[in-house]
Amino acid sequence: MSTREVMRKIFGIEDDEDNGFGYPDRQTRLDLSHNVILYLEDITVSFDGFRALNKLNLAIDAGELRCIIGPNGAGKTTMMDVITGKTRPDSGRAFFGQTIDLTRLTEPQIAHTGIGRKFQKPTIFEQHSAFENLELAMKTDKRVSKSLFATLRDEQRDRIAATLTQIGLGHEADRPAGLLSHGQKQWLEIGMLLMQEPQLLLLDEPVAGMTDDETVKTAELFLSLAGKHSLVVVEHDMSFIERLGGKVTVLHEGSVLMEGDLATVQNDQRVIEVYLGR
Ligand code: ADP
Ligand code: MG
Repeated sequence: MSTREVMRKIFGIEDDEDNGFGYPDRQTRLDLSHNVILYLEDITVSFDGFRALNKLNLAIDAGELRCIIGPNGAGKTTMMDVITGKTRPDSGRAFFGQTIDLTRLTEPQIAHTGIGRKFQKPTIFEQHSAFENLELAMKTDKRVSKSLFATLRDEQRDRIAATLTQIGLGHEADRPAGLLSHGQKQWLEIGMLLMQEPQLLLLDEPVAGMTDDETVKTAELFLSLAGKHSLVVVEHDMSFIERLGGKVTVLHEGSVLMEGDLATVQNDQRVIEVYLGR
C-alpha cells in the first residue's frame, strides 16, 4: 500500500489537495518550466502614502543565490514581507514558479508551498537540544506520517543528523540550544527551515553579529545550499557578499537601482551616490 492509500484509508484524506493547509501539495505543483522560481512585477506598497516599494521588479532563477543590498529604508525587508504574505502589495504581481500567485495566499499557505524565511532574531527552543529543535521543526509539517510510520523514524533521525552536519552542528546535537553561540543559533534556525524542505529561502541580514569565522562558515553553508534551493540574501557585509559571488541587486527607494556582479555594482556611480548620500 502506498503512503497515500494508507492516509486515505485511515484518515479519509482523499488526495494532496486535502493536506489541512487548504492548498495543493508543493512538491508536485511548483512549475519551474521557465527556470524562474520567483517573479515580482511592478510591486508597490504604500504606508500612509509613502511608497516603501515603488514598482519593484525582480526575477530569481531556480537554484540561484541572489544578494540584495541597499541603504536603510530602501525596502528590502518590505520586499520579503510581500513575498511571504505578511504585507499585501497595493498593486503588482508576485509569482512562485509559473503558476502560484503569492498575492492570493495567506502567510501559512506561502510557508507551506515552499518559501522559508529566516528573521534577524532566531526563533529557536532554547531549553531543547539542537537535535530536538530540528525534530520539532519537522513535526509541524510531517506530523501525520510521523505518528503513522514507526519505521520512518530511522530515516528521520538520519535526516536530522545530516542536517546538523550540514549546518556545522554535528558535534552539538545534544547541547541545549540556549547554550550555543550566537552564530550557531542562527545556523540552527536555518536548519529548522531546511527541515521543512523549502525551495526558496529568504534570509534577512543572516550574518549580523557573527564573528568573522562564523561569517565565513555561513557563506560556505549558503553556497552548499544553492542549486538545490534558491536563496535571496539581504546583507550589508560586503566581504560576505563577495564570498557568495552571485548576482547583486541594489534597491533604492523601493525600486531596483541596478543589478550585476558585486564589482560592477560597487563601481557604479549611481550606487556610490546612493550610499554616500546617506
Ligand atoms: P530596509 O529593510 O531596506 O531597511 P524597510 O523595508 O524596512 O527597509 O522599510 C522601507 C521603508 O518603509 C522605510 O522608510 C520604513 O520606515 C517604511 N516602513 C516599513 N514598514 C512600515 C510600516 N509597517 N509602516 C510604516 N512604514 C513602514
Ligand atoms: Mg531591513
